[in-house]
Amino acid sequence: MFDRIALIGIGLIGSSLARVIEREKIAANVAVSTRSEKTLKRAEELRLGTHYTMDAAEAVKDADLVIISVPVGASGAVAAQIASSLKPGAIVTDVGSTKASVIRQMKPELPSNVHFIAGHPVAGTEYSGPDAGFASLFEGRWCILTPDEDTNPEALQKLSAFWTACGSDVQTMDAVHHDQVLALVSHLPQLISYNIVGTASDFETVSQADVIKYSASGFRDFTRLAASDPTMWRDVCLHNKDAILEMLARFSEDLSSMRASIRRGDGDALFELFTKTRSIRRSIIEAGQDVDTPNFGRTPHKD
Ligand code: NAP
Repeated sequence: MFDRIALIGIGLIGSSLARVIEREKIAANVAVSTRSEKTLKRAEELRLGTHYTMDAAEAVKDADLVIISVPVGASGAVAAQIASSLKPGAIVTDVGSTKASVIRQMKPELPSNVHFIAGHPVAGTEYSGPDAGFASLFEGRWCILTPDEDTNPEALQKLSAFWTACGSDVQTMDAVHHDQVLALVSHLPQLISYNIVGTASDFETVSQADVIKYSASGFRDFTRLAASDPTMWRDVCLHNKDAILEMLARFSEDLSSMRASIRRGDGDALFELFTKTRSIRRSIIEAGQDVDTPNFGRTPHKD
């Protein structure tokens, strides 16, 4: 599909892309660039590309597709760094979890003779770095692209075909809408998890040992999200501030209402809510976004 792809950032997402590009033979050459010597060395040991450099500008020379996979707060600086070395006609994209802020940061830095289309594969884990990636990460997962009125349709078609080859289902969406949807389905659950795990770690009357020992009661499901990369999530909070604050406000209202139902002993209200939420879980399974096995398919073991 491409002669040369440049991967700028080679953590969980960048290295998963490297692996699927190799498996599906999507590009003849893959230039890998990352800011630290340690990560670059590891990427080379893992044979994630065909060329390696710490200089992002060097990596993008002659690349037909450039994919930036760094924390969203760094995307503007990376765009400025590569701008003058990009090949005319190249497609430049990113994988950041927020979109309006990335477009605001990157678009003004990039020359008008390249095709910039922001994107977000809605796929990930709580692990980071080049060892964490795997080729099947994007399989059956959505990749959201956020073209605007300046987007070249052929470039959009080519980028969509790239993500399809990686195993994703592609959806295009307005960047602001993306940020609202993701604030609800991704950023809010993440913040709730950080909050619950933070509350548990501060609780004086229950020991840490008991929290860990009895965590299979539900707590551990929040700890998966709460173990995610702090840099990535700090940047998401700072770069999707308005949508996140709106979702947190709605969440707080609903939590107050649930608290009132419990205080009033209003079992009907609680039952109605819990019935509604159960049906959402069923819809997620029907949409193929999770497995239909108890306890997320975990193998039973001694609790
Ligand atoms: P990661 O595993 O932590 O890897 C981050 C990569 O970015 C590394 O190559 C790192 O370089 C580089 N980097 C970090 N800070 C940088 C900076 N200030 N300037 C330039 N490069 C920098 O992260 P990831 O999980 O792959 O996430 C990358 C992007 O994907 C983020 O924008 C995130 O929002 C998005 N995303 C993540 C997930 C997820 O579940 N993790 C899902 C979808 C989208 P060094 O290691 O050399 O320092």
